[in-house]
Amino acid sequence: MLPYGKQDIRHEDINAVVDVLKSDLITQGDLVPKFESSVAEKVGAAHGVAVNSATSALHIAYMAAGLRPGGLLWTVPNTFVATANAALYCGADVDFVDVDPRTYNMSVDSLEEKLKIAERIGRIPDLVVPVHFAGQPCDMKQIRELGDEYGFRIIEDASHAIGASYQSEQIGACQFSDITVFSFHPVKIITTGEGGMALSNNPELVARMVLLRSHGVTRSADLIDKQDAEAWYYEQIDLGFNYRMTEMQAALGISQLSRLDEYVDKRHSLAKHYDALLGDAPLVFPYQTDTSRSAYHLYPVMLSNSDQRRFVFDRMRSRGIGVNVHYIPVHTQPWYKSKGFNWGDYAVAEDYYSRTMSLPLFPQMGLHDVERVVAELRYALSVS
Ligand SMILES: *Cc1c(COP(=O)(O)O)cnc(C)c1O
Repeated sequence: MLPYGKQDIRHEDINAVVDVLKSDLITQGDLVPKFESSVAEKVGAAHGVAVNSATSALHIAYMAAGLRPGGLLWTVPNTFVATANAALYCGADVDFVDVDPRTYNMSVDSLEEKLKIAERIGRIPDLVVPVHFAGQPCDMKQIRELGDEYGFRIIEDASHAIGASYQSEQIGACQFSDITVFSFHPVKIITTGEGGMALSNNPELVARMVLLRSHGVTRSADLIDKQDAEAWYYEQIDLGFNYRMTEMQAALGISQLSRLDEYVDKRHSLAKHYDALLGDAPLVFPYQTDTSRSAYHLYPVMLSNSDQRRFVFDRMRSRGIGVNVHYIPVHTQPWYKSKGFNWGDYAVAEDYYSRTMSLPLFPQMGLHDVERVVAELRYALSVS
């Protein structure tokens, strides 16, 4: 089966991980800080906080940004469940903003409309979390203007978007946000097996995330109460977690990061090949804005209707093409329905979901793989 996404592990990656295994420290050594500063430097942020998944990064980012029990976070339905779940971990409520019909990212118009209503009923969100779906950056400048007007903080879920850029800055630079989160799950742009990172230019947010990542425990003389503390002494000053990344993962991440540009360029050339070969097919393609460059984590196409999508999906899978669907709208999951959401709440995200299908796209694919996918897709469409 040709999968929809897959990691690229090379000899140098394996050697980097094996070197760590042969060394004294396999956790809490020098490589995690080195990976953090390498990613931060690459994307133009002041600091990075590496953790064991993007889900953990979202959780401590939300906490650091002040999301509390009874608080409120808004995100989009067209995302992986983790974006919303992490708000529930904080004891906060989640609500959703519908997506733009062209980019499938948070619609600025829907956000503005919902904010006007929220102001009238007196419940402005504490946090708004745009998701750079498929690697395409959201309209961050407009979202930030609304944030300044209404007084909410912004965290970017950039799980799909390391290597993307927006208005000439890299995603991760936090130009229009407080914190940006990357995922290093194997299907994402670069991988550490499992892993994630929160980037920020705000030293207070960074310090809080560093504490929360490791039990809320610190040895920092600036943070502990005790004067003239003994060498063994530490204090727990917050209730944190064990969300730490290992040295093996950081070594893999550093090695992968050196190929980030190569990966994103390859994704673009594969996507261009899809564009050229499928241009006249009865499909809707991912719209690319002219103010940004996507990381092309996904190549989703929209079909005519849900019946055709189901037929074409099954046919592609039976022919060894690992198509997938991103995303089942979060608010339609049974867990979220039990909180009062339902089908019909977010029409654009639901219509998009009912017809979308992600085609295989990952760096070791060749142009011949794209051609095979296209041939199978054209055939499936012709008999659907
Ligand atoms: C993958 C993903 C996550 C979760 O990432 P993990 O590293 O697997 O925890 C969160 N949000 C989005 C949009 C994702 O695609």
